[in-house]
Order: sequence, then C-alpha cells, then structure tokens
Amino acid sequence: MTHPELKILPWNGYKAAISLTFDDGDPTQLETAVPALSKRGLRGTFFLIANRLKNLEEWKKAAQAGQEIGNHTLDHKHGWALSPAESIEQIAASRQKLEELLGVSTPTFAYPFTEITPALRQTAEKHHFLSRGGYGSVYMPSQNQPDWHYLASQVAFSHTSSGILKGWTDQNIYNHTWSIPQFHAFTGSQAGWQPLSPVKFEDFLDDLVEKQNQIWIGTLGEVGAYWQAQDLLEKTQGNLENGSVIWNWKKPLLMPARTTLKIQLHGAKKVYQKNRLLEPAENGIYTIAFDDEELKVS
Ligand SMILES: [Zn+2]
Repeated sequence: MTHPELKILPWNGYKAAISLTFDDGDPTQLETAVPALSKRGLRGTFFLIANRLKNLEEWKKAAQAGQEIGNHTLDHKHGWALSPAESIEQIAASRQKLEELLGVSTPTFAYPFTEITPALRQTAEKHHFLSRGGYGSVYMPSQNQPDWHYLASQVAFSHTSSGILKGWTDQNIYNHTWSIPQFHAFTGSQAGWQPLSPVKFEDFLDDLVEKQNQIWIGTLGEVGAYWQAQDLLEKTQGNLENGSVIWNWKKPLLMPARTTLKIQLHGAKKVYQKNRLLEPAENGIYTIAFDDEELKVS
C-alpha cells in the first residue's frame, strides 16, 4: 500500500483553544467562578496553595465535578527568596500534599507571582508536564512549540472590562491560537488579589459559550496534553509492516492520561488501535487514544 498521509487537527478540531485559569484558591472563586463555570458546563484550572487551602470539602467537590486542580506551591513565596532546596520542597511537597488532600492528580503548575528561577524551572520540569508563567506571547500558534515550563498568560485585573475580556477571545479565534487567561479573586474577597466583578466574568463566559463552535474550551492540562501529544505523533515515522503502516510512540510519564487526538488519514482503508477497528466520524475524522501508543493503518 502507499504510505497514507496522517494529519492531526490542531486544537481538537476547533479554530482556537482557551484555558481559563484561577490562582491562589481565594474563597470567592468557590462562590463565583466554580458555579458560573459549572452552570455553563465549563471547566477551568484552579491553582491552589497547599499550606493555605481553606474550604477543603468544597474544593474536593469542585475537583470531583471535573474542575482541574493545579499546583501553586506550598506557601506562595517569591522565587528569588528561595534556596534551591526550598524551591524543590515548595513544588514537590505541594504536589504531593494537594493530591493527598483532594484525591486528584495535579499535573500542571503555576509559578507564584509568575516569577521563574533556574531552581524553580528545574523542579517544575521534574514534577509537572507543563507550567504556566506570566508575560510573553499570549496567543500561541500551533505550529510553534511554546516554552512548556513558562507558558504565557493574560492577566485579568479588577479594572479589566468585559469588552476587553471578549476582545481576547475574538483575537484568539482570529489568530487560530491558544490563550490562557488568568483570574484571581472576585468581588467580596477579603484578601484576594485584583478582585473582578462577577457580572463582568459571567458576561465574558456567556460570550465564550456563544463562540463554542469555534473555540475549544479545555483545561490547561487537556489542551497542553493535546498539543504535546500532537507534536510527538507528528515527529513519529510510520513503519511499513506486512502491508500495513504502523506508528508507535511512548506517552511521556508526566503527561495526563486519556488524551484523545483528532486525525485525518488520506489513503487509508482500515484504521486500528490495539486491534480495535476505528470508525471515522461523518466528516472522515478519526478520534484516537494517545494512551494506546500505537496506530495501524491498512
Ligand atoms: Zn498566585
């Protein structure tokens, strides 16, 4: 057979992708962000500080309902104030503690104050498959791999209008990119940073939901895993064996499980994963399980 052409669709088949992130675990996130998201069937990523975790039961419920929990260190200290040993502890012990307390995996990390140091980066790379940073190119095109351990994000401040927030979505869709807005506290917060009005936030979410057929609203871990899996598979050569072409790859250890990829195969007759025959969707697109580490086409 001729070698079929394998194409992986960026952003899960949508024009663009967005991941909503929330830092510091302020109690107003449980009052505003979590209900606003779940009411619309959306999920975000919440970066919690292990030693400052309040409302444990409510966070557990949110996590069980599908909100993603990320690691935001033990104590949210400034990176420059930490020794190399403390940097390791702040990330490694925090991941362990959050996972024990909440009973979920926390594959993603965010730097406190978006401050990066060599020791923090090295530890983040060892314990997490991606890390969110702060400033940089906030609209990430799928053809250029980003800095996976300092992903740029867009900070929403108290004064950020819902028009600006919606403009971020439009720009992202227009660019066919991935963007990562970053929220902190909401109105009524005791000590949270840059509280945002819930009205603005919900207005932004409603607009996002209206554009849902164009933009993939996935958690940071989901979109990051999709893109890393896509990149890995694109670099994999298919081998011709007994009239079939077989691709084999290895899922990186720290990457979350159950990532699926949307692919197109031109010139393929039958597509298998682990001897399971896959059926294409009506548009000819196959959904493959990255965990299977194998794709066979004949
Ligand atoms: Zn923070």
